[in-house]
Amino acid sequence: MITVLASKPHAQLEVVERDIPVAQLAGEEVIKVLACGVCHSDLHVADGDFGGPYPIVLGHEVVGEHPELGRVLLYAPWGCGRAECRQCSAGLEMICPNGREAGVVSDGGYSQYMKVPRREYLLPIGDMDPATTAPLACGGLTAFRAVKRALPHLLRPGSRAVVIGAGGLGQFAIQFLKALADVELTVVDTSAEKLTVAAELGADVTCNSNELHGKYDAVIDFVGADATLAAAAAAIDRQGIIVVVGLWGGRIPFGVGAVPSETVLTTSIWGSLEDLRELLDFARGHKLQHSIQTLPLYQAQEAHDLLRSGKIKGRAVLIAN
Ligand SMILES: [Zn+2]
Ligand SMILES: [Zn+2]
Repeated sequence: MITVLASKPHAQLEVVERDIPVAQLAGEEVIKVLACGVCHSDLHVADGDFGGPYPIVLGHEVVGEHPELGRVLLYAPWGCGRAECRQCSAGLEMICPNGREAGVVSDGGYSQYMKVPRREYLLPIGDMDPATTAPLACGGLTAFRAVKRALPHLLRPGSRAVVIGAGGLGQFAIQFLKALADVELTVVDTSAEKLTVAAELGADVTCNSNELHGKYDAVIDFVGADATLAAAAAAIDRQGIIVVVGLWGGRIPFGVGAVPSETVLTTSIWGSLEDLRELLDFARGHKLQHSIQTLPLYQAQEAHDLLRSGKIKGRAVLIAN
C-alpha cells in the first residue's frame, strides 16, 4: 500500500510503500482509507510545532471502509484510554493530557490503510460521500463543539451572537448557529469575499471587527489573535461567553473590571466522540454547505504547498483509494 510519511520536521512528505497494517491488540481495527482531509494542523505537525513523534503518518479527517461497518467516519482525538484518566473516563478524550491523536501522535490517514485502536472510533456514515464527509471529523467537529458551548447563552429568542473568522470553521459555525438557536448572527472578517459567503450561509450582519455595535451574548473567535480577542471582550455582554478556537495565541487581560461582570471566557478544543455522533446526526438532517478540492493521496505534499500559499478554496481532501 501507499503511505505518506512526515519523516522529520520541515522535511518534504515522502510517498513510501508499506505493508498493509494488521490488527494485533484486542479491539484494534484496520480500515481502508477512502478520503482524508488536509487541515492546518497537519501543516503544524509537518513543521514540528506539536513536538512529534517522527516519522509519522499525518491526517486526522478520515473516512474509511470497514469490512463489517461499511463506510465510517473516524473519531481522531484519541485519548490515553486509561480507566484512571479523568478526561477519558468522562468522554473528553480530546483534552486527555496523554492523548494519542491520530495524525498528530499516532499514525493517521495519509495512507491507503490505517490501524484504529477501538471500533467505537468508527462511526458508520452509510452512503454519505467520503470526500465531503471527511472534513467533519476536525473542521466540522471543532466548530460544532464551540457552538454547543455557546448555546446555553443563546436561549433567549433574538439573542445576539458573533462569529469572528469566516473561513472553513466559521462557515460551519454559521450554519450550526442558525439551525440550533434563534439568534441574530453577526460575522466578522477582513475579507469581503468571505463575508459574502457568510451572508449566503445565513449571517444577518457582516462587518469588520471595529463595526460591532451594542452588546452580544456570545462571541466565537476562530482567529484568536490579540486584536480579535480585544474585539470580543469589548463586544461581549455581562454574563456572555467568549469561546476561543483560533490558534493565533492572542492574550487579553482578565479579572474583575477587565472584562464585563460574570462574562465566561473559555477555549474550545476539537470535540468528543458524543459531539461527533451528534454532528453526524445533524449532517444527515441538514444540507451542510462547504467546499472541497480533491487530490490523489500521492500529491499530499502538493496539497500542503497549496494550503500554505492560500490557494485551496475550502478543504483539500486526499483520495486514497
Ligand atoms: Zn484538524
Ligand atoms: Zn486519557
